[in-house]
Amino acid sequence: MTDDSLLDRALVRLEEAASHLQIDQDVIEKLKYPRETTKTRLLIRMDDGSRKSFLAWRCRYDDTRGPTKGGIRFHPESTIEEVETLAFWMTFKCAVMNLPYGGGKGAVRVDPHTLSKTELERLSRAYMQAFATTVGPDRDIPAPDVYTNAMIMGWMADEYNQITGSVTPAVITGKPIALGGSLGRNDATARGGFYLVRHLAEELGLAGSHTVAIQGFGNAGQFYAQLAAADGHRIVAVSDSTGAIYRPGGLDVTRLIAGKTAGRRVTELAAELGATIIPADELIGVEADLLVPAALEEMITQANAATVKARVVLELANGPVTAEADKILSERGVIVLPDILANAGGVTVSYFEWVQNRQGFYWDLEEIHARLKKMMEREGRAVWDIAKDRSVSVRAAAYIHALGRLSTAIEAHGTQPFFAG
Ligand code: NAD
Repeated sequence: MTDDSLLDRALVRLEEAASHLQIDQDVIEKLKYPRETTKTRLLIRMDDGSRKSFLAWRCRYDDTRGPTKGGIRFHPESTIEEVETLAFWMTFKCAVMNLPYGGGKGAVRVDPHTLSKTELERLSRAYMQAFATTVGPDRDIPAPDVYTNAMIMGWMADEYNQITGSVTPAVITGKPIALGGSLGRNDATARGGFYLVRHLAEELGLAGSHTVAIQGFGNAGQFYAQLAAADGHRIVAVSDSTGAIYRPGGLDVTRLIAGKTAGRRVTELAAELGATIIPADELIGVEADLLVPAALEEMITQANAATVKARVVLELANGPVTAEADKILSERGVIVLPDILANAGGVTVSYFEWVQNRQGFYWDLEEIHARLKKMMEREGRAVWDIAKDRSVSVRAAAYIHALGRLSTAIEAHGTQPFFAG
């Protein structure tokens, strides 16, 4: 049993990547701590007239390569440690994709499902009031994450505009299209992962039609199911926080999404889809060629990694596979396409949104898809080649790729040998 924190465990990946590169110790010293994390309490008026206070954070992990970028999560179990770890991952994700950003993240400890719509709006605006001097289009640019959405981003952008007396859509991404959002942002995370798998299909042993199991059926999971099904693949199992369903012959994705959109759980849809209900944690071990964790962190662990039957794991969620599970999967020959590459489509189209906001000229969907595809394929191929050349996992390769870019930027300010010599 280890009492290492989530961030300590994430930093193992940094150390591993550093062992493959000739980098100055300054780089590690800079990247092993978050630059700044602000904690506050958001005090809002509830609909019943009472006041309630919610813990909230914003972390700017590292901004060497540009303004920090990262989502805001509303979740009852959010912690400062989780926020800092997610911000660390964002630093590496932006570097993998060569986006001109550092990494950031924010959260409010709240179960948004217990709030009314007006309370949710007040909480979202309170977040922006608290962090109006932390964020900014050249400083720190939030976006949606778990249990936050385009409307919440729109409220936050509006609050920022009211505070600053300007209209600055580039302060936040993932906004509604009518408020300066980008076309293609809604399915970008899933689409990026989908382009990556398609590009490497041959190498992954997934050429032709394959079967897919998806853990978590929210934004990332639903869009992945839609894209894969439309491309001729069978979605055999899906889960949400309440349970999982399994149908070896394939699930009807259109009806599944319609049911979820109507507010039903996946298990409530089992009968009409001819599927079997299985415990949520058994989804990891169902027979499928591709396993797509698209829920939360640390879902594939030492305890269940040996049950994985898929030959490839596509991490649409952030941090779904623990370091111990990574080892078990690798020993069993399972290829893990790591989060910092696999789910980078979301931040990439967020970057496109920020670029369009700043230039005041908007691209059509075709252009966005073409640019996303090109970037996913370019960086995906580069990472794959590093993995092959150095005989390391794809995750280690992605960290090596990112750390190479981060260290070049950090070292450009001068290193110890430069100053001491
Ligand atoms: P979401 O809130 O839309 O969906 C999350 C889903 O996970 C929900 O269906 C929920 O029921 C399910 N879930 C929660 N606990 C579960 C459990 N124990 N077992 C099975 N399912 C469970 O969130 P999202 O935006 O789809 O994000 C999902 C993951 O993808 C997160 O890790 C997030 O950080 C990551 N991600 C999302 C984006 C994006 O653009 N949306 C970008 C990058 C990474």
